[in-house]
Amino acid sequence: MDDISFKLPSRKEITTLTGEQGFSHIGFLDLAQFTEWYIKSLSTDQTSTHAVPELLTDAINSGLKGILITALPIMESPSSEHEQPQEPSGEVAPFASDNYYKKAVGKHKIINTELRKRTGYSKRMFRIFCNSRFPEKAFAAAAGIGFIGKNSLLISRDLGSGIVLSGMLLPWFPENSKDIKNALPLPPGEECGKCMICIKSCPTRAIIKPGVVDRGKCLQSMSTGEMRAEFFPLWGTRIYGCQECQDRCPYNHKTKEPGTSGRSNPGPEIPLERILTAGTTRNDIKSLFKGTTLDQGWIKEQYILRNALIATGNHPDGKKLESYIKKHELSEDKMIKEAALWADVRLFPEKEKNT
Ligand code: SF4
Ligand code: SF4
Repeated sequence: MDDISFKLPSRKEITTLTGEQGFSHIGFLDLAQFTEWYIKSLSTDQTSTHAVPELLTDAINSGLKGILITALPIMESPSSEHEQPQEPSGEVAPFASDNYYKKAVGKHKIINTELRKRTGYSKRMFRIFCNSRFPEKAFAAAAGIGFIGKNSLLISRDLGSGIVLSGMLLPWFPENSKDIKNALPLPPGEECGKCMICIKSCPTRAIIKPGVVDRGKCLQSMSTGEMRAEFFPLWGTRIYGCQECQDRCPYNHKTKEPGTSGRSNPGPEIPLERILTAGTTRNDIKSLFKGTTLDQGWIKEQYILRNALIATGNHPDGKKLESYIKKHELSEDKMIKEAALWADVRLFPEKEKNT
């Protein structure tokens, strides 16, 4: 049992701590109340198959009582600051140009150290989460940080979806945590009104109904997973990520000059040659992306190489990289070989006719 020898920090004190770390939004919830509310909001089918209720119940059983949910603004560099290489290059989506998940976790670790010092609770009585299996978007919506849009993302009313969610489960819930006992779950997209921009602008029509994205058709999901050949032409010159449905969202234009392209910066551009010439060992390709989301352990280098080959096939100057494509046509990795063969035929259609 932890020896709680200090006064529990107030909501105001925690807000100050998170503000000092650069979080723009903060919310507090009672974990048990949220869990009850969340389970009520699931359909009968979901209740039996969904892993989240069990995850939340386990946390309650281990003595956790409160949810602290925060949003960290994504600070994009103006496009003029991005490197604009002359050679054929591909893009990394702006949200992935920095490792915001790692940054958010680092900030929570600092807050956590301070909370432990003030309360006497041990480390095991806190659980930091970011990009986790916990329902972070539902936490944020329930706590009033924003709403879930038709593109399934959490949208804050002032910063749009340009935020990264993270937080901590706490061994107590601060006073004045949001009371959601009698709140009705708001269907995703309700606050979007009649807007359908993201649904219409998705290149693969992956948003199949408000708040539901078919991951098998979503380019963002394909960045680090299976990509069927029918999607290769739609992949464009991306290296990682898609945020088309965010770039067009009116909530992401609020802080921009009218008539500008909102937060649609192209993101960092990387010469494709640098990826195609790198070997397939972890260090070679990953070293090109140090400090970005792509540097995370779970992102496999083979996917980055596959994406770069498809981007080369779609690039108007991709022919310049023919010799590198040829090299990868000999790859023993089926996925790499398929992408290289596709790029070759895409850039030199006459070859297909001659075979
Ligand atoms: S990330 Fe891209 S592919 Fe996925 S839903 Fe949004 S626009 Fe569509
Ligand atoms: S683009 Fe429109 S419909 Fe889509 S999330 Fe934004 S406001 Fe909602």
